[in-house]
Amino acid sequence: MKTVRPPMIIMILLIFTAIGIVAFYNFSNSNGKSVYKVVIDPGHGGKDHGATGASGQFEKDFTLKLSRKVEKLAQEEPRLQVHLTRTDDRFISSVDRARPKFANDLGADLFISIHGNTFANPDVSGTETYYYHWNSRSLAKVMHKHVVQGSGFQNRGVKKENYFVLKDTKMPAVLIEMGYLTHPKEEKEMLTEEYQNRMAVSIVDGIKEYLKLD
Ligand SMILES: [Zn+2]
Repeated sequence: MKTVRPPMIIMILLIFTAIGIVAFYNFSNSNGKSVYKVVIDPGHGGKDHGATGASGQFEKDFTLKLSRKVEKLAQEEPRLQVHLTRTDDRFISSVDRARPKFANDLGADLFISIHGNTFANPDVSGTETYYYHWNSRSLAKVMHKHVVQGSGFQNRGVKKENYFVLKDTKMPAVLIEMGYLTHPKEEKEMLTEEYQNRMAVSIVDGIKEYLKLD
């Protein structure tokens, strides 16, 4: 008895349909921006401790913890694809500009560098957001608004500064100084889970507002 096989034409149509679906999906992701690549950059790392807080703890640990919370929260938003410049306590050289290169090579849509501030005078407190290129200014304003609202810390404003992570990145890029780790009360709050969870929400909300994802 002859085996019944589906006609060749149906097989070919099925294969082309499958190729078409995959091609359309890729096209809508890359050109239609149904998914945005966001680089979160935890400041410092490894032998570069960053600021030493009032309690003696290092900025590099604060920035990593907060960045990981942002990454985790952003996973709930299917249109955000978050990439961290470091996921552990490693040193990233500023000489070879690895942080902006990471974002440029990835073709990232946004770059957000997370820091905690330091100053000789322990009374100084508050949040500052930096940008360098003109096309990063609106991102800086949106992110700053959300972070200041979320923390309730003093608003020290949005400022232009020639930081290499902001200068060498090709996409809108900001550096957020979340608060002063050298201010004992502010540091104490910044090191709490509650503050960091709240700030992760503020940062993701800022990203979503800027990208008009809501
Ligand atoms: Zn820093």
